[in-house]
Amino acid sequence: MGPAKGRSRRGIRLKKRAELKKMRRAGRIVHEVLCRLKAAAAPGVTTAELDELAAEVIQSRGATPSFLGQQVNNRRYPAATCISINDEVVHGIPSRKRRIRTGDLVSIDVGACWQGYHGDAALTVAVGEVLPEAKRLLEVTRSALERSIAKVVPGGWLNDVSRAIQEHVEAAGFSVVRALSGHGIGASLWEEPQVHNFVAGSRNVRLRAGMTLAIEPMVNAGHWEVRPSADMWTMRTADGSLSAHFEHTVAVTKDGVAILTAGGVDE
Ligand code: MG
Repeated sequence: MGPAKGRSRRGIRLKKRAELKKMRRAGRIVHEVLCRLKAAAAPGVTTAELDELAAEVIQSRGATPSFLGQQVNNRRYPAATCISINDEVVHGIPSRKRRIRTGDLVSIDVGACWQGYHGDAALTVAVGEVLPEAKRLLEVTRSALERSIAKVVPGGWLNDVSRAIQEHVEAAGFSVVRALSGHGIGASLWEEPQVHNFVAGSRNVRLRAGMTLAIEPMVNAGHWEVRPSADMWTMRTADGSLSAHFEHTVAVTKDGVAILTAGGVDE
């Protein structure tokens, strides 16, 4: 889950070892939830059922759902997960009326808070046989995340993380969503800096050990433009094309990068 563009700027908070330990724990819980939900995402299952399962696992691990109650423009997010299907990009609200069907591209986004520290990750799963274009969209989005994480090194630049996503996605003929971005993360779900999925031409940030980032490419098969649904949360592609979303919470370490929500992409 990520903020809309243009939230207020605060300083970037570097995390100490004890804080990173808590974030790793939160990240492991998020990973476990994603594995469980990926396995449970089958035809006939409602998105509300997936959300209940997520809340159960998070609570059973002594954590709380990060997204529940998260406030944007005086509206509180009402669920533990965001589940966004096909042309829905992100922030899909789970519903008892929404049943997963064969051929759906289902993006699952989960956050957990353990002892005051957050983990945030997402993956997209193809349910049954999907169109070749959908499969390619999923693979390109997943590999865009991998390529961007490879750019996370101490002394590196945040713009190179963004550029790795944009170049890979656009070379494949898809587009990156611009109205939403990744984010710093820690004691708050959304911290500075914003992690754009394209080179914004604005402030560049030097990466330093102790920075923790939620990197989350949101990729549309068609145009990058998105618009909110009637519920004011669910973002859809403006042109009705398919969209995919992968996310990891990572930490810049002394000598490279640590994925705190490890395995969230592949397992
Ligand atoms: Mg996020």
